[in-house]
Amino acid sequence: MKFGGTSVADIDRIRNVARHVKREVDAGHEVAVVVSAMSGTTNQLVAWCEAASLLFDAREYDAVVATGEEVTAGLLAITLQDLDVNARSWQGWQLPILTSDAHGSARILEVNGEELIRRFRERKEVAVVAGFQGLHKQTGRITTLGRGGSDTSAVAIAAAIRADRCDIYTDVDGVYTTDPRVVPRARRLDKVAFEEMLELASLGAKVLQVRSVELGMVHNVRIFVRSSFEAPDKIDPHGHPPGTLICDEGEIMEQQTVTGIAFSRDEAQISVRQVQDKPGVAAAIFGPLAETNINVDMIVQNVSADGKTTDITFTVPAADYQRALDVITKAKAAVGYARLDGATDVAKVSVIGIGMRSHAGVAALAFKALAERSINIRAITTSEIKFSLLIDAAFTELAVRTLHSLYQLDNAAV
Ligand code: ASP
Ligand code: MG
Repeated sequence: MKFGGTSVADIDRIRNVARHVKREVDAGHEVAVVVSAMSGTTNQLVAWCEAASLLFDAREYDAVVATGEEVTAGLLAITLQDLDVNARSWQGWQLPILTSDAHGSARILEVNGEELIRRFRERKEVAVVAGFQGLHKQTGRITTLGRGGSDTSAVAIAAAIRADRCDIYTDVDGVYTTDPRVVPRARRLDKVAFEEMLELASLGAKVLQVRSVELGMVHNVRIFVRSSFEAPDKIDPHGHPPGTLICDEGEIMEQQTVTGIAFSRDEAQISVRQVQDKPGVAAAIFGPLAETNINVDMIVQNVSADGKTTDITFTVPAADYQRALDVITKAKAAVGYARLDGATDVAKVSVIGIGMRSHAGVAALAFKALAERSINIRAITTSEIKFSLLIDAAFTELAVRTLHSLYQLDNAAV
């Protein structure tokens, strides 16, 4: 069971979490709990590091920000004991949860779950594990997994204790076909395949940290996203609570062609105009961007207006826009282009579904529907289970709603 920041925001809510845990323990389940920091805490800790020094030591940043989860783990253990549930807290180094040394965004390498299993079997002791943190073995230093990393801690621990399921209790009751704030008719999905969730999470649905989905896919940990705000005692621990199961596609019986629509406004477009159409030009553009750690997403190459040369258009995260322009400007001699254009008022809308593998013409429907609404498409990328369209940001909501109806995702009941 994993509880996020809003679910443990104060002592009353932590008590509520303890009741959720007790319900499962009383039902005969063996439980490990992973907690986030109380909401707002991590932001505060990060702000203190930044206030202390703009060029802070990443190892000390981790020492500071890891504390948020430690507080919650101890408090939840206390409230569980208060309900006569045997419980103890665990920090990352105590298990240990071993990670890489990439401070601030470390990767989990290994988790030892044997001691947790033994203690549950022998003493019915619930493990309350601080999320978000780990240990780099060689240096002996505390690491953190990147913002939202407690989801990943939870999936890693679920894998280590060979859990039947990893329940992510959060402030929404599942994964929706799209953001319900944009499309009120969005539906909660009963099941989503790992691959689809990976796309949804990377493309803007913020329910889970992307790495947690990757880890779930690799270790085949079934992840169940559900609400922490339901009354703990009203839930049947053997029943089917509302929520979304993220699982292997083999477990999904009736598959729609399209599962969901994601969008992101944090995109920027850069067009490098009139480059020679010859080997080495793309390398001269994208090599320096990669060296600067700028993630390039969509790439389109087309014939320039003069009919002789080529334009190369690509997108980068909006936060990297200026840096990317600087990099390309510096590489002008090596690339040999006539002009550099850019835009930040663009958005990427993505249509996702494993059913696309076996259905032809799914994207063609979208092109037609958007054309009918005079929405121009600036760039397109496709993969086996998704396609993404770059459009003017002003049309984001219209495009998302149009596609949501087009692929019959609208909830009939609303
Ligand atoms: N507390 C950390 C954060 O806010 C980790 C988490 O909540 O998942 O990013
Ligand atoms: Mg989160």
